[in-house]
Amino acid sequence: MKRAHNFNAGPAALPLEVLEKAQSELTNFNNTGMSVMELSHRSKEYEEVHNETIDLLKELIRIPEEYDVLFLQGGASLQFAMIPMNFLREGQTANYILSGSWSEKALKEAKLLGETKIGGSSKEDNYTYIPNEIDVSDDDAYVHITSNNTIFGTQWQDFHIETKAPLIADMSSDILSRPLPIEKFSLIYAGAQKNLGPSGVTVVIMKKELHEKTPENLPTLLKYSTHADKNSLYHTPPTFAIYMLNLVLKWVKENGGPEGIEQRNKEKAELLYDVIDRSNGFYIGHAEKESRSNMNVTFNLQSETLNQRFLEEAKEKGFVGLNGHRSVGGCRASIYNAVTKESCEALRDFMIDFQNKNQ
Ligand code: PMP
Repeated sequence: MKRAHNFNAGPAALPLEVLEKAQSELTNFNNTGMSVMELSHRSKEYEEVHNETIDLLKELIRIPEEYDVLFLQGGASLQFAMIPMNFLREGQTANYILSGSWSEKALKEAKLLGETKIGGSSKEDNYTYIPNEIDVSDDDAYVHITSNNTIFGTQWQDFHIETKAPLIADMSSDILSRPLPIEKFSLIYAGAQKNLGPSGVTVVIMKKELHEKTPENLPTLLKYSTHADKNSLYHTPPTFAIYMLNLVLKWVKENGGPEGIEQRNKEKAELLYDVIDRSNGFYIGHAEKESRSNMNVTFNLQSETLNQRFLEEAKEKGFVGLNGHRSVGGCRASIYNAVTKESCEALRDFMIDFQNKNQ
């Protein structure tokens, strides 16, 4: 069967090798006579998968000893609330840098729970770039950024923030797409469904010292320390999603780790940005060049009619998921780690062809 050219924004493409491996083990995992989904989360077989997945993350992201790696549920959206619940105390202010809709959503939750401020924003320019002027203080409860803006197609290239306050990042749409200076961050989090695996598990990597900030009176499941103390096995974890994450991490390792993946991602993104840049304004990129994302390529054509024609023809040709987010319209090609270079080349060819026929 032919695989689709899958440009979905998330859940998104998974590596074919990973899916085939999962398929081959589906009914008999490791000679247990059952699938990994049917194992007890307290079994030796599952625990091996669980611990190996944590070790793989530590190895690939080069996570130092003083960090915990947690597997949580509730998506990145629950992190929007858990972060202020755990780390924003009375008399303190949490600092949010706004670079898109997901940062706004993170801020919205924090506002429900305490004092906040906005230390930088590109909202007035329709989030076409990553804010340059950043106002942070060492007294901030923490500083929150979104490393890649899935909807607007911008990405922090360097993390130009200097602060002694804990730096926290939503990396849902670019985790493991490139090497990461993890020491700069006190906490990073990512829903798995773009670069890490299927939906259902949220990876949190956090400095152990942050646990001291958590108030006693939080519900058990909403405290990071509950999960850290029990190695993310306080309650039933999403075992199948973690197993898939395990296979994806092995695939990342086999493909050169974050360095190798970054190289490939750059090549893929360049194929599409090149078409935009050479199109004489036929395709209009949303993001300013220095803020362009290597994960989500966002663009418009010159009219809504042309946008619709492009999307319809693309669909007929077997390209999936090219519609922009429903809040902004236009077109978006999400080219996460598992999207193949061949798919990007096919899209490039289609874009050139479409321009030639319609200009
Ligand atoms: N943050 C970012 C950057 C995202 O792209 C998304 C999902 N598209 C979310 C948060 C929300 O994630 P979830 O659906 O896992 O709550």
